[in-house]
Amino acid sequence: MRRSPRARRWRLEVPWGEPARLTAPRSMSRVEVHELLRDKRTWIEEQRRRQVPRLGLEGLAVSESAARIAARELVSALAEEEAGRLGVAYRRIRIGGQRTLWGSCSPAGTLSFNWRLVLAPVDVLDYVVVHELCHLRVPNHSRRFWGLVEWRRPHWREQRDWLREHGAELLAFKASE
Ligand SMILES: [Zn+2]
Repeated sequence: MRRSPRARRWRLEVPWGEPARLTAPRSMSRVEVHELLRDKRTWIEEQRRRQVPRLGLEGLAVSESAARIAARELVSALAEEEAGRLGVAYRRIRIGGQRTLWGSCSPAGTLSFNWRLVLAPVDVLDYVVVHELCHLRVPNHSRRFWGLVEWRRPHWREQRDWLREHGAELLAFKASE
């Protein structure tokens, strides 16, 4: 449990493979915290039950530096090919390790990708790269944006669904070195 001077209300998270985390505002009393945890016990257990590993990543020895190199190579090759077709130019590619994010695109043209994407099916990594490149043309998630994604990857929904289903498990993956 963590007290936050900025939090206006409590927030309870159950991250994959980590203890549940409660962020509580300073105004919340100890009694209130205990009551909340008691009330939410079933909910926490339910979240845990859903966190069943299905990707076969347990016990997989992956070096983060090697995975980052592999991610950079794959992402660069895909981005180079697709940027031409989309008529966009990016400035650079960054490989990051955010625990919450697959990819992002800055207005300055930096594309960032999570190295854990190399552990996903290659079509999923490909979709994330195309998604971020499309943002260079349309910075939001408007109908026009999805039209662009659909033009380049007609089956993008399958990849999005894969990320929805397995994303939390993959983001929680920790490298062995
Ligand atoms: Zn997006």
